Amino acid sequence: MTAAVYGGRAKCLQRLVRLELPVPTTIALSFDTVRDIARGHLPDMAKVMAPFDQKQLLSVRPSSQDPDWGGPGAILNIGMNDARHAEMIDQIGEAAATTIYLRFIQAYAVHVARLDPDEFYLPDTPDAASLKAMRETYEVETDEPFPQDPAKQLGDVLRSMARAWDGTTARLLREAKGAPKDAGLGLVVQAMAMGVGVGECGSGVIQYADSVTGLPQITGRYLRQSQGREALRAQKDAIYLTKDSRGASLEETYPAVFAELVACGDLCRRKLREEMQVEFTLENGALHILDAVRIQRSSRASVQIAVALAQDQIIPREEAVMRVEPAALSELLHRQIDPSAARDLIVRGIAASPGAAAGRIVLTAAEAQASAARGEACVLVRRETTPEDIRGMHAAQAVLTMRGGVTSHAAVIGRGLGVPCVVGASDLVIDRKAGQITAPDGRIFSVGDVITVDGTTGQILVGEPPMREAALDDAFRTLLEWADDARDIGVRANADTPADAQTARNFAAEGIGLCRTEHMFFEGDRLGVMREMIFAEGGDDRAAVLDRLLPMQRADFRALFEIMEGQPVCVRLFDPPLHEFLPSDKAGLRDLAAQLAEPLSEVTARVNALREYNPMLGMRGVRLGIAIPEIYDMQARAIFEALAAVRAKGIDVVVEIMVPLVSAMREVELVKARVDGVANAVMAETKSRFTYRLGVMVETPRAALRAHDIAAHAQFLSFGTNDLTQMTYGLSRDDAGRFMSAYVQQGVYAEDPFHTFDVDGVGELVALGAERGRQGRKDVIISICGEHGGSRVAIEFCREHGFDYVSCSPFRVPVARLTAAQLAL
Ligand code: PEP
Ligand code: MG
Repeated sequence: MTAAVYGGRAKCLQRLVRLELPVPTTIALSFDTVRDIARGHLPDMAKVMAPFDQKQLLSVRPSSQDPDWGGPGAILNIGMNDARHAEMIDQIGEAAATTIYLRFIQAYAVHVARLDPDEFYLPDTPDAASLKAMRETYEVETDEPFPQDPAKQLGDVLRSMARAWDGTTARLLREAKGAPKDAGLGLVVQAMAMGVGVGECGSGVIQYADSVTGLPQITGRYLRQSQGREALRAQKDAIYLTKDSRGASLEETYPAVFAELVACGDLCRRKLREEMQVEFTLENGALHILDAVRIQRSSRASVQIAVALAQDQIIPREEAVMRVEPAALSELLHRQIDPSAARDLIVRGIAASPGAAAGRIVLTAAEAQASAARGEACVLVRRETTPEDIRGMHAAQAVLTMRGGVTSHAAVIGRGLGVPCVVGASDLVIDRKAGQITAPDGRIFSVGDVITVDGTTGQILVGEPPMREAALDDAFRTLLEWADDARDIGVRANADTPADAQTARNFAAEGIGLCRTEHMFFEGDRLGVMREMIFAEGGDDRAAVLDRLLPMQRADFRALFEIMEGQPVCVRLFDPPLHEFLPSDKAGLRDLAAQLAEPLSEVTARVNALREYNPMLGMRGVRLGIAIPEIYDMQARAIFEALAAVRAKGIDVVVEIMVPLVSAMREVELVKARVDGVANAVMAETKSRFTYRLGVMVETPRAALRAHDIAAHAQFLSFGTNDLTQMTYGLSRDDAGRFMSAYVQQGVYAEDPFHTFDVDGVGELVALGAERGRQGRKDVIISICGEHGGSRVAIEFCREHGFDYVSCSPFRVPVARLTAAQLAL
């Protein structure tokens, strides 16, 4: 019997029977049989019912291939009719017998005959009168007496469950959970163990590990005179399983049964190699095991359980690595608000993507991107988000929407990006024109005000409370160590700030694969100095201003090197077009004129002169490095002086200097000559010796095509797939959002290539570039550092092409480590 033919529940029950657990007689109907039933071809009912005792009532439960795909609810007590009712009154008393009959009529009426549930409620006193009343209601609604033939009852139940599986809602729900379109349903028919009757009768559910933490802990409930999973729903009377302060427990009242259940859990864990939740029934004191399912679990618990099973040698370590869904890890990886911090609540919404982040309020995706370009943290606040907002979401530290639930666009994308997100904060009023949001208590917050989104609790807070960095617990760390044993490709982090670098370190990144240095110029008073540098007249003036930037940069690199001790740090030289540092509005221009003590008209004219029609293809990256070489000289000096300083303290790092936006070999040759010159000068001045690598960021098609001669001057090549995607497609990174959803909806592109690595097109160029690069230099180090770096598709591609490492955002590092391991296993 396989889960692919009979479903997971059937397969599991078969195992429980093999383990000689007290499972009532059970038969399984395959997906094909159930499909036939849905089409109106019932199997021979006499055959189906043959293994069962004529006097036994039956239950039917769904058995989909993956239990998470759901299925119609179980139907119990099939076979109940007037004759059985009369017999049962003698055996178990009228109240119990009538309760069972009433329950069956109710279930049958609602789920099989599809009658109005409001007409079929269970009476407080299950007596002859209430039974008569319910039967009459059934007759009035259907023009037929309640069916008495057990074979007809069972046939009808099977048919209704088979058809329910085909319903549109059921289909959409399971497809959302990853079920294929043609997913099948199996059905399990089982003899009822009667939880209602004489002696100790009841039903319950037990599990042996905690669903939130995954740690060993017996939890569950038992309810006397009940069936199915009623104990879990009961408001009162249910008793707990273990001794504790909440009153009587099964452990105290029925120690033998409790011991049997504990042994059953242990057996399941060892033989089914899983933490199971077991459904059981006591019938006149005897234990029956009806069903077992994998326990529901949080991401944290899924890691804990997999690791504990491997540590107990129940599953191999590799299997533990395979069992944890990489995406689930990202939930555990986020910064949280310090639990002891005071919270000034603005509004509460639905917690849609975990973690907390603070930033200035922005109300459009474009503002979010502009804010990110300035290196400023922002929170994107929208009524709801649409695919056009993706870039903005990417650029924002957190997202807040007024509409939508946990599967809304904002929620899904937020989780995918690992961006904290709260949705459905409907008590907030947003006024885009005024640039304001109004809290339910009347307080008004404007664009630019700092708020915090707590995607773990759903709260939006004023300001920025103290945060706690994410940390890996022991199980998490262990799992990732096992993953690292299996992994055959390196994982580095894209980290620009000391905080990013610390996160990267905490997540065991093997170095920094991309440090974008430009953000460093947006901080504090550096922007002013930067502007002076841009406006400096001639080389000497410029060098003087750069001398003021030098110590700031040196301090930045020192901090990074100290954190990344012993590892490689790849610093990318200055990349963006200069005008991004200049003001665009009148007020900003006036400020700048005042700062430079120059006439406004002069400043405006020079700012305008720096504008480009196509700045992303204009004077940026290495072009700037060639045209104004003093900038790269200053950066190289800052890097080397920082290196010399940390080395003097006994800290070593492997420094890599990366040249962006290269398209010709000569660009590299020129930059390399100057950087080498600076290195030699710093070595002489500091009387020290150090080495470094110089490499190239391959992000123009020509750099990929000419990778062989570029590699002659570059010790490493790192593919910047953001720009490379832009240039390969001829798609603007900043503007493609306008039509991307139309393109994806109509299947022009399968996915947005800025989010899903385009193996067919961009991949072709990357593969060719890697191959040519190796032709130029056998031991050239090859990697990828665009936004795609941490994705499964990109990691798979990079492994296939023998890349040395992928580099991704720090929070994706653990996900990438696990993904890479799973691909290698
Ligand atoms: C890239 O282009 O892929 C890249 C990593 O650089 P940036 O996104 O900074 O242009
Ligand atoms: Mg780039």
